[in-house]
Amino acid sequence: MRILIVEDEVRLARTLADLLKRQGYTADMCHDGVSGLDNAASGIYDLVLLDAMLPGMDGFTLLQELRAGGHSVPVLMLTARSDVTDKVHGLDSGADYYLTKPFEPEELLACIRLLLRRGNSGVRLDDALTCGDLHLESGTFLLSCQERSVRLSRREYDLMELLMRNGTQIVTKEQLLLKVWGYDSDAEDNNVEVYISFLRRKLTHLHSAVRIKTIRMVGYCLEVTP
Ligand code: CA
Repeated sequence: MRILIVEDEVRLARTLADLLKRQGYTADMCHDGVSGLDNAASGIYDLVLLDAMLPGMDGFTLLQELRAGGHSVPVLMLTARSDVTDKVHGLDSGADYYLTKPFEPEELLACIRLLLRRGNSGVRLDDALTCGDLHLESGTFLLSCQERSVRLSRREYDLMELLMRNGTQIVTKEQLLLKVWGYDSDAEDNNVEVYISFLRRKLTHLHSAVRIKTIRMVGYCLEVTP
């Protein structure tokens, strides 16, 4: 799970990033509205923590631009003001939730879990995902099909989770590289291909009706064979 923090108070942004990383999330930071919008619209984030008052472009405008562009990534707005008109403005702009500073870390984490569970695609049921006859558990990394199961490596799990959350929608190689390997990685297309081949072998072993289909020059999607 990759979270973007758009917060101009650098110390607070770092504190939030550390808190999220300790919970096992991947966290990136932006400190102004313009680069915040650029990154939020990249399609690689599962959630955006958005400060209301930002240099360059304020959080409300950023959010309106993001939603106008058709991006449905969950957004949790953070603000120092507890003014009710601000809250309404935030929700009207397309925020999924609103938290007033100062907040307790536990409160923030609970909101994040709630928004991630709700998600914006896929068939996420608590901490397990299903697609066709496949079942993927986040706690154990177990991929199962009826009574057969295999344990996935961390990388295989991240890849499979992304494919299952998108179902029959295509995930591009670029998205896979960014979300599974990360921005600062020098992994290339053939790294993705190698891991896709590992997963295909495991699907064969499981006798699953789900297969990973290659969309030439684009990416991959899942297909449930009859
Ligand atoms: Ca601010």
